Amino acid sequence: MMHTLNETHDLQLRSWVASANTVGTDFPIQNLPFAVFRRRNTGEPFRCGVAIGDQILDLRLAAEVPSFSEDIRKLLQAGAQDKLNALMALGAQAWSALRLALSRALREGAKEEKDLQSCLVAQTDVEYDVPARIGDYTDFYTSVYHATNIGKQFRPDNPLLPNYKWVPIGYHGRSSSIVVSGREFHRPVGQTMPPGASAPSFGPSKRLDIELELGIFVGTGNALGEPIGIQNAEDHVFGIALLNDWSARDIQGWEYQPLGPFLSKNFASTISPWIVTLEALAPYRVPFSRPSEDPQPLPYLDSEQNRQSGSLDIQLEVGLSTAKMREAQVQEATICRTSYRHAYWTVAQLVAHHTVNGCNLQPGDLFGSGTLSGPSLDQAAALVELTQGGKQPLQLPNGESRAFLEDGDSVVLRGWCEKPGAARIGFGECKGTVLPAREYKTA
Ligand code: MN
Repeated sequence: MMHTLNETHDLQLRSWVASANTVGTDFPIQNLPFAVFRRRNTGEPFRCGVAIGDQILDLRLAAEVPSFSEDIRKLLQAGAQDKLNALMALGAQAWSALRLALSRALREGAKEEKDLQSCLVAQTDVEYDVPARIGDYTDFYTSVYHATNIGKQFRPDNPLLPNYKWVPIGYHGRSSSIVVSGREFHRPVGQTMPPGASAPSFGPSKRLDIELELGIFVGTGNALGEPIGIQNAEDHVFGIALLNDWSARDIQGWEYQPLGPFLSKNFASTISPWIVTLEALAPYRVPFSRPSEDPQPLPYLDSEQNRQSGSLDIQLEVGLSTAKMREAQVQEATICRTSYRHAYWTVAQLVAHHTVNGCNLQPGDLFGSGTLSGPSLDQAAALVELTQGGKQPLQLPNGESRAFLEDGDSVVLRGWCEKPGAARIGFGECKGTVLPAREYKTA
C-alpha cells in the first residue's frame, strides 16, 4: 500500500492555500507531513498539525469541521492530542484515509475550504515540540561508507568489521534528550583520553560533531514475541524526519569499548518538527541492490518488494553557520550533500531485523538511520569524516575554518525529494546551536 501511487500524488493537484502551489515549496498538497505545534506565546496545549504551503492545518480545530465525515473526524480527533502517538497507533490504512481526505479538502474548489480557512495557522507564528512521545530510540549504522571512514580512524588495519555486511548494526540510544529543531544545547563535558596520555582528562569535549541522519518513526507496534516480517514491515512505519545525532568524538573514543557509545551520544539529539509519511514518499522509491561481490541479505531481510523499491532517494544537505557568519549576515556554508539512497540497509530491513528476536516496537519509537555518508568525501555526513579526524579542517567562505564544532555554531539539516513528473516533497529544517560548556564544579 505504501508503495503505490494514487490521486494524492498527482502533480497537477493545486491547493486553495496559494503558498502550497509555489515552485520550490517543501509542503505542496502532495506532501501533507505531520508535526506537533502551538501558537507561540499563548501557552495553549500542543496539538497535531499538517503542513500546507507556509501554513499549518490545526487538526484539533479541523476535527470540529462538520463537512468531514464521521469517520474522518474520528481520525482528526486522534490528531487533537499533544503528540502524534494516538494517530500513529491507528495504522497504515487510517493514515492513508486521512491523507486522502485532507488532500481532497485542501484542493482548489473543495467544499471544505470555507470551514478550514479558520483552522490554518502561519508557520511563522508557531512553536513546535518533539512530534511523538518517543518510548525507545534505536540508532542504526546503515551507511557502509560512514562505517568504513570511521572504522579507518579507530582501526586503520581493519576498518569494516566482519559482521557489517550481514547484520544491520545498531544500539539502543536514549530518548529523553531528543529535542526539537531550534533548540540550543551546551557542549558536553566528560572524560577523554588524549593520544599518548597515561590518564584521562576531564573537561568540555574538543571534538564535537554532527551526524546527518534520518529519523524513522514507528507507527503501529508489535506484541512482544511476535516478529514483524519484512513483507509488511513498512506498514508499521509512520514516516521519516530529519535527525542530527550530535556526537562528542573524543568522549566516544575513550568510552566506547566494549559496550558502544554512551555519554558521547546522549547529551542531545535534534529532530525536525515535520514527519513526512512513507505514502508521500512513494514517487521517490528506488531499487535496493547490493554489489555482486557483497553477501546478499539473509532471507528474513530480503523480499521482492524490498529489492524493487525498498530504498528512498531523499536528498540531504548540511549547512553550517558560525557566530561570526551570523553577525556579518553571510549565508551559511553547505558542508555536505548526499542522498538516503546510498544506505546499505532499507527501512523495511531495519524493522524486520529489530523485531526478528521478538523485540516489541511501540507507536512513537524512533530509529536513527545512522550517519548517511555517501560514497565520495563531499558526501560525508559528519565532520570527523569531512576533516579526516580533524586533520584537514574545513575552510569556510568567510575565512574561518572548522575541524569540529565551536561554540556558537549552528547546524541546519535539510531534506527533500525532487524529480520530473512528481511533486517536490520537503522535510523542512532540523536546526541546533552549540552553547559553551556549563561550568562544572567538582567537590
Ligand atoms: Mn548516530
